[in-house]
Amino acid sequence: MTVLGFWLLVGVALAGWIFGLPRRWLLAALAAVWTVIEMAHMAGWGAAFGGSARGWLVAGGLAGLVLAYRAGLARLRSRAVPAPVPVPADPGVTDAELDRYARHLVLREIGGPGQMRLRDARILVVGAGGLGAPVCLYLAAAGVGRITIADDDTVSLSNLQRQVIFRSDQRGQGKAQTAAAAMHALNPHVAVTPVPRRITDADIDLIAQHDLVLDGTDSFAAREAINRACVTARVPLIAGAIAQWEGQVTLYDPARGGPCLACLFPTAPAPGLAPPCAEAGVIGPLPGVVGSMMALEAIKHLTGAGQGLRGRMLIFDGLYGESRMIGTARRPDCPVCGSGLEGRAERS
Ligand SMILES: [Zn+2]
Repeated sequence: MTVLGFWLLVGVALAGWIFGLPRRWLLAALAAVWTVIEMAHMAGWGAAFGGSARGWLVAGGLAGLVLAYRAGLARLRSRAVPAPVPVPADPGVTDAELDRYARHLVLREIGGPGQMRLRDARILVVGAGGLGAPVCLYLAAAGVGRITIADDDTVSLSNLQRQVIFRSDQRGQGKAQTAAAAMHALNPHVAVTPVPRRITDADIDLIAQHDLVLDGTDSFAAREAINRACVTARVPLIAGAIAQWEGQVTLYDPARGGPCLACLFPTAPAPGLAPPCAEAGVIGPLPGVVGSMMALEAIKHLTGAGQGLRGRMLIFDGLYGESRMIGTARRPDCPVCGSGLEGRAERS
């Protein structure tokens, strides 16, 4: 039996497809044709279209149901929240590491890629004293892959008031080895190398093996030497300093436009003006505050999170609970990073 109405609908659909009719208009045209056929049947002269009033009604109803179902499905899909893209797990990352760094992994600024950068990073920490203690503990806890800790000193009773990485029964032991053992106990996933000696301006090769240096030494001569070596090796240096109730932290990075230590302090302070902590004293938690800031800046520097302290120095006054930021700038005539920097870089 030839059902003319059916071929009429097929013709309309074909024409709509050929002329690129929008889907909504095509459906309206098909519905109009179906309505005409159905009404013709009900009026008693629909035999020409074939079928029956009931048959066309059932067919139309079924088509309507299918269309309604698809429309509902599309609406639900458009409202659904897209599933979070899973962080592709490095084959070398264990479940224990994912668990350990979970609070980093959910941070937008760190996440999986940032944690990988921390794992691939090499940091040299100079000084395992008051500043070095929180620096070492937080960097190891954060999962910085390779940490070198340099210190030539041994643990003494007067250190324990602030150098919280050491224990009473470790008096007399080397600070570099003892700090390394504490870091390894805290996080066995990081590799720690103790260097039980001072870092001097001759340590350019050692510094060049690292992405970043953190200086927590407390003599101007030592800071000057580390600064010179870092400038020559073109390795950025995060420096913290503390005295009594006040501390400061900044990033020296002349290879990338920032100043170096000598740009800000071209000459050593007069004797007695900046005495070391042993003479001037220092409040116990202050190195905890400033050292934690150094570790925070190091993590930011390695992961690219936020804004670092290049060209800025943060000064913290613990006695009055105040902090302020001052701008710092590179000096073109700096004796350390000035005219000679480019030449040294080319030779290296
Ligand atoms: Zn300089």
